[in-house]
Formats: sequence, structure tokens, C-alpha cells
Amino acid sequence: MKIKNFIGLVILVLFVPPAWGTVNVLDIRSWSAPEYTRIVVDLTGPAYYDLFELSEPNRVVIDLKEANPLLSKKEFIINDPVISRVRWGCFTPGTVRVVLDLVKPAETKVFTLKKFYDKPDRLVIDIFRSDLEKKEEEKRAVFQKKSRGTYIVVIDPGHGGEDPGALGKTGRKEKTITLEIAKKLRDAINRERNVKAFLTRENDYFIPLRRRWKIAKEYNADLFISIHVNAGFNQNKRGAEVYCLSLGGASQEAARILADQENSSDLIGGVDLASCPDGVDSILVGMEQTRTINDGLILGKITLEELKKVHSINFPEPLQAGFAVLKAPDIPSVLVEVGYLSNPQEEKSLSAYPFQTKIAEAIKTSTALFFKKIGGEVASVN
Ligand SMILES: [Zn+2]
Repeated sequence: MKIKNFIGLVILVLFVPPAWGTVNVLDIRSWSAPEYTRIVVDLTGPAYYDLFELSEPNRVVIDLKEANPLLSKKEFIINDPVISRVRWGCFTPGTVRVVLDLVKPAETKVFTLKKFYDKPDRLVIDIFRSDLEKKEEEKRAVFQKKSRGTYIVVIDPGHGGEDPGALGKTGRKEKTITLEIAKKLRDAINRERNVKAFLTRENDYFIPLRRRWKIAKEYNADLFISIHVNAGFNQNKRGAEVYCLSLGGASQEAARILADQENSSDLIGGVDLASCPDGVDSILVGMEQTRTINDGLILGKITLEELKKVHSINFPEPLQAGFAVLKAPDIPSVLVEVGYLSNPQEEKSLSAYPFQTKIAEAIKTSTALFFKKIGGEVASVN
């Protein structure tokens, strides 16, 4: 639900109050993306709330009904281009008022998320600045007019924001390691002369899975590489794996389980399911899609060959399953699980600069070899 900002006061949303009484507010936090800021309220039950906007100064107010704040703090400063501060307190007995102080007028989108695994019931308020959104789009559109012989690679650091991904024993998070490796990979690719790399996210915030490959389309990408870190029950399991999209079933049960796990990212990271019409993710099966998947498999195979030189690999070929993040119809895409965070030794090496650099260099080399194979050279600057 996206609501145009306007002057005055409008009561927007009323949810059915929970019959069992008070919900506790457990936490309030924020995630800043380049064009919007997400505020997440953790609750012990479903939210019953009013939301309205006020001007002079611009602010968004959320009144949580039948609520009790279990928070020691009363505010936090954000100071990003969208929100300056978030503050809260008991407005009337049983009503917790949360106020978002805006930098400029903005659009508000609000939705609830049901309890999911270790995540409690959540109220999510996204504040968008359409002028900043336009700037991001313009930045990406520049590369749509790329010169002949220049390749674009979009690298997707898996997870982010509300969705930490896999967790290591010492607390390392998949979302942090994927971003660190993705940045090294981007920088390594950008040292090549006729290839340019971009990231789907540069910081710690969540991007819905479908939005990730759409960003690649906005860049007019030739390749899309999603970086992930695996985890399993067996602490000894280690090594890299490469996955590609499958139009039918999974090539192995393990690939299906992993795809289900990775696809649940939207439920953890927070996607307003009401705004996703059914079937929007269904793939247009055609010649182009088949060719795209075949090219993805070629890249996947080359990537495994390169990773094998610096790391152990678990399968000699890429495995295939219905990964939502790989569904770009016309961009060859792979998902690389660079190692196992559940293995204590691997958690250490995955966090270390030399190993991250080795992995990034191996994937970079595989992109250059892929472009060479499909009919062009990538000239190295060094
Ligand atoms: Zn992952």
C-alpha cells in the first residue's frame, strides 16, 4: 500500500484488535537504503494501529493500540536522507505513539509480517523519497547506453537488513560476509578494461529477491551473480557450490531444500505480500529463457573450475533449482555458495581478507573466461 504524502492528517490503517489484550513492543530499529528507510517494530502479537502523516515539520505518526513499550530507550537518531529521528512513548494509557521525523515530505508504505521462525510479529513502515528513487534509476540507466564490447556484471550480496542469512558460531552473519566478498569481486572486475561491475546493495538493508534481478535489468547487465554462504547441521561440511535456475524440478533434493531456504528470504527480510500479485514470478518459458539458463550453466561450470583452484567444491557441476533471485528472463545468472558458515574453521577463513580476496579473484576470472567464450575478450588493466 503506497500512500501519497499530503498536508494534514489522515487516518490510514486500522487492523482488527487482538482479542487477548496488550501486545508488548520489544524493539524498534531502522535500515537505510539509498532511496528509502525501513522502520521495523517487533511485537509480541499482531499489530493494531493507526498511522497518519503531519506537516510542519513533516512526520509520520503510528499509534499502536493495546500496546505496552518494553524499551529502555525513548528515541534514536538516524540522520539519513529520509528520516532524522525516531521517537516513541506512551501517548495515552494503552497507546504507544511512534513518531518518525522526516527530512523532507515522503511516501509511506506500511505492512505487517507474521511471526516466522525466530522473528516475532513485526510492523514495517517504509518511507520512500521518490526524488532519491529517480536518482538511483538515472544512475543505472546511464549504463543502458553502454558502448559495444563493454560488459556489465551485477553482483548481488545475499540477504541484508532484517534478514541476516546463515549465522556462524561466533556470530558472523552471512549478510556481512556476502557484502564483503561482493565488494572485493566488484573491485576486481572493475580493474578490467571493458567490463563494469555494480552491486545490488552497498550496505546493510534488505532487497526483495525479485527486485535484485530487476536492478540487474536496470543496469542492462550481461551477467548476474548472487553471493551466498551456506550452513548445515554437519559442522564438518565445507566447500563451495554453484547453483543455476531450473524451469522444472530441482536437479537434486539438496538443491531444492537450499532453494526453499534461500527463497524464504523475502519472509524474513520483509516483503509486503499483498502488493505481489500471484504468479508474477512465473517464468515465461521460451527460447530466450532456455538460452539464458544454458549460458548460466556455462558460467556456473567455469566458476566451479576456478573455485576449485582456491577452495574445495562439493559438486563438479552446477546444481539447478527454482531460485527466485535467478529468474531474470534474459540475464545469465548463477548463485555461488562460497562456503559453510556452520563449519568453525570455514567461518574463520570466510571472514578473513586473504580468503575473501581469493574467492573474489576466482569468480572474477570465471566472468572473464565466460565473456571470452561467448565471443569477446576482457582486457586486463594490470
Ligand atoms: Zn543465502
